[in-house]
Amino acid sequence: MKRRIVPFWFPNLGCPTRCTFCDQFAARGEAISLPNPEQLRTAIEAAAREEAPCSLEAAYYGGTFTALPAEMQERLLEPASTLLKQGVLAGIRVSTHPSFTSSEAMARLGRFGVTTVELGIQSFADSVLAHNGRDYHGERALQACRSVQSAGLALIVQLMPFLPEASEEDDLDAARLVAELVPDGVRLFPTVALAGTRLAEWWREGLWKPPSLEATTARVARMLRIIAPARVSVLRIGLQASRSLDKAVLAGPYHPALGELCRSALLADVVHFAMAEVHRSETTRPHLIVESPLASLLTGHDHFGLGMLNKWRPADSYTWTIGPNTAPPARQAHSSFWRSEVFLVSLHGNVVRVSRT
Ligand code: SF4
Repeated sequence: MKRRIVPFWFPNLGCPTRCTFCDQFAARGEAISLPNPEQLRTAIEAAAREEAPCSLEAAYYGGTFTALPAEMQERLLEPASTLLKQGVLAGIRVSTHPSFTSSEAMARLGRFGVTTVELGIQSFADSVLAHNGRDYHGERALQACRSVQSAGLALIVQLMPFLPEASEEDDLDAARLVAELVPDGVRLFPTVALAGTRLAEWWREGLWKPPSLEATTARVARMLRIIAPARVSVLRIGLQASRSLDKAVLAGPYHPALGELCRSALLADVVHFAMAEVHRSETTRPHLIVESPLASLLTGHDHFGLGMLNKWRPADSYTWTIGPNTAPPARQAHSSFWRSEVFLVSLHGNVVRVSRT
């Protein structure tokens, strides 16, 4: 059944510090007032009437939920908790900060039926966290993830590649830790400078250089290569474009199809390595066959994926065609080279085949 999230925004509420890159008011628009419990109940019931049949979840986003006073958390959760017991909601999720994941805090969430905790981890590297106003260490971030998991709650990890001071290795390390933790999902938000943040000042002063779209997709693709084999769902790549964000983003990789571009770069990256493998054993040029529904990953957005591949491998060093969909038995005859949620890359002689998974 389709899942629909009913989000309630609590911009920066409960946050222990203001992180250098964050302004939830700018990100969501100014006209946000905190809903009272009755408004929460009414909004959820209205969504249930409009959206049926679907699996509905209420989400408390935009701040540090578990840092709020306990009575406030309980007052906010109570209407959703009741609707969960009545079967109107299928789940409740909250977003919070790694420093507020004590067993007591997790137990409270559990009592009110919270099913998922989204942790704004951003980076596991101590120096990156310190530089960006995050008041904890990487070890604390790991413990926070484990606290959520050991409380029996689903864990979603949010990471921000390209934070100031983050090297490529820092971002790849974060991906490796996610692959080890195997959370229930990950969201990747490549860093952008929002108006009114310290990061925007750093950008104006030349202290932070935003990555190009190409550099962003290449690095995120490398992160995905690490995360995908661990069967971790990638729920989102890049901020969801909106009118308020269109105005608020001053610099950085903000693109309405960033996720698709990153998946194109991932396909190009994996195919590049698969072709290198072919070269090891074959004397003929590699031939790439891409199943037709996946061809847009190479040809979409003005041949973005193909452009990436040709940066790493000259266009005349291989041939390629869009192939028909392959029947499952033929797929099994191929040796699997790499698999993601979206595509499978397999090798057969000098042929590199990309099929749906
Ligand atoms: S990143 Fe998270 S903890 Fe930091 S200010 Fe924003 S909402 Fe608060």
